[in-house]
Amino acid sequence: MADKPEVVKQEEIKRESAFIRVVTGAGGVNPQEILEILSIAIIIIHVFMMFMYHIMGVWQLALYNIIVIAYYSYCYTTVREGKIFRGYLLTFIEIVFQMVITMFIIGWESGFYTYVISIIPVYYYISMFVGGADHKKGVHVFTPMIWSFVTLAVVLATYITDQFVTPVVTLETAPLKVAFTFNVFFASMLIIWMSHFFVLGYKNSIDILAKKNTTLDEEASLDPLTGLYNRRTMETNLEGALEAAKKTGALFSLVMGDIDFFKRINDTYGHECGDVALVQVADILKTCVRDGDVVCRWGGEEFLLLVKGNRNVASTVAERIRARIENNVVEYGEHRITFTMTLGVSTYAPGYSLESLVTQADENLYYGKEHGRNQVVSTKPKVTSTVSSNV
Ligand code: GH3
Ligand code: MG
Ligand code: MG
Repeated sequence: MADKPEVVKQEEIKRESAFIRVVTGAGGVNPQEILEILSIAIIIIHVFMMFMYHIMGVWQLALYNIIVIAYYSYCYTTVREGKIFRGYLLTFIEIVFQMVITMFIIGWESGFYTYVISIIPVYYYISMFVGGADHKKGVHVFTPMIWSFVTLAVVLATYITDQFVTPVVTLETAPLKVAFTFNVFFASMLIIWMSHFFVLGYKNSIDILAKKNTTLDEEASLDPLTGLYNRRTMETNLEGALEAAKKTGALFSLVMGDIDFFKRINDTYGHECGDVALVQVADILKTCVRDGDVVCRWGGEEFLLLVKGNRNVASTVAERIRARIENNVVEYGEHRITFTMTLGVSTYAPGYSLESLVTQADENLYYGKEHGRNQVVSTKPKVTSTVSSNV
């Protein structure tokens, strides 16, 4: 019992924040919440209408509006159950029906037809955010337009009928003007708010797409196993570094590292263990570089680093990596596995191409492999013809 007021308060806070959320579109747009709030607004409008007709002495429409309040209360519960499309359909049917009945009782001049015209933008809203994206089946691009013309035809037919019908109640000019003003005002409000929700929904869709694009871009630029940049991203970075070097003379170097006898780790402890080792190598590489340097997984167990600096800087980084990997222990089950890495360095100089730089780092690396592994090679004693011709 003591908890009850607290629960009610919580519920009120939730409702209040839902209202603010729906109107501002903050934190996503929910078509169901939009229609819930719209249904409440429609109920309130009909309460006012009921009083208006009661004061004017049009008991038929006052009574009709009492029935309509019950009808929209049912509509509201339908929407609360998530049946958004049915909620809109029931609303449209009632609005059109009320236009006809109002025309017969007090005449066309009361302006109820403006509500029917105001449901036209709602068709477009629904086709985008209720019948379309939300129901995953999509709505044909001309469907809202066809319904708009049908609606317009019904409005015109009612107008034409009005020419041949004498209203049940003949209102004075002043009450007619009051009714007309009331109807035009709230019908315009419906147009304004539905257009607002259309914009919110549209903006929300664009935001969702932009976020998805960012995620896709990130995924496409990273190696899924190690989280390092992949070869494609590194190539883009290399092109940028080359351009900058040509323009400003900013030096950069490459460090190519390859794990020694990695196949043995896979063969002895399994591929999964090899993966664990690769992830650990990636983590070590990340901690060995400075901001602005780029680390990537170039291939299987080959890593390439773009280091901002000359050969000495890159060799220091490479040596730091070599030492850290040598001292690293991979704990896999009851196994404690150690391994080493051989690294080759190359440094940009005017006239070098990216291909020649990668080739030079690669050749230095393989020179290290041939001469005992677990070492950094920044300059080979003998330069091969490929390198000298390229650079
Ligand atoms: P070396 O010292 O000459 O580099 O010998 P190595 O055994 O490291 O060289 P090799 O190129 O013969 O073997 C590389 C191995 O790396 C073969 C391949 O199965 C393994 N490898 C490549 N990508 C992955 C991966 O994503 N996960 C695992 N676990 N192994 C991989
Ligand atoms: Mg290897
Ligand atoms: Mg290899």
